[in-house]
Amino acid sequence: MIARLIEVRETKNRGRGVFAKEFIPKGTIICFECRQCRVLTADELGFYQMSEKEKMALLDWAYRKEDGTFVAPCDETRYLNHSCNANILGTDYGFDIVVENIRKGEEATYDYRDFYDEVKMPCYCGEKNCCKVVDFKHPISEELRHFWAVKVNAALKLVNQVSQPLKEELKKKSIFLPLHP
Ligand SMILES: [Zn+2]
Ligand SMILES: [Zn+2]
Repeated sequence: MIARLIEVRETKNRGRGVFAKEFIPKGTIICFECRQCRVLTADELGFYQMSEKEKMALLDWAYRKEDGTFVAPCDETRYLNHSCNANILGTDYGFDIVVENIRKGEEATYDYRDFYDEVKMPCYCGEKNCCKVVDFKHPISEELRHFWAVKVNAALKLVNQVSQPLKEELKKKSIFLPLHP
């Protein structure tokens, strides 16, 4: 489930994307895997019979977690594009957080390198630190983990200072805002 602060629009070169309808401050919990998000096993998906091309197409609507299952988000979350310098990152709390202020009209992005997919996905994010090819390699390099951790920790410190549109929804899944992150 993604907070209703976004809209789906066509990007220049990456199909549809998610854009901020209003300013979204750093520290906003923007999405999480809610009870309406579908979780599928590799067998249910017929993943092992898929061609590389089909596995690539899967990235358009699902992502793979460490336990090998696939999550098909219930809503526009699926249109979040990858960036190597994403303004949304995952946390250890079961939610994703905005790590850089997102201006009105700016595209919201997530770092797919956090996922456990198997294909190699060329990246055209255009960021200075672009990895060029997202290969979903794990464990994540020390350097990248550090890059994420600095951003996520700074954003978590703001969690109780910005308005949290998903607060009630998170509670339904027993996810509470960390008090002293
Ligand atoms: Zn959901
Ligand atoms: Zn990139």
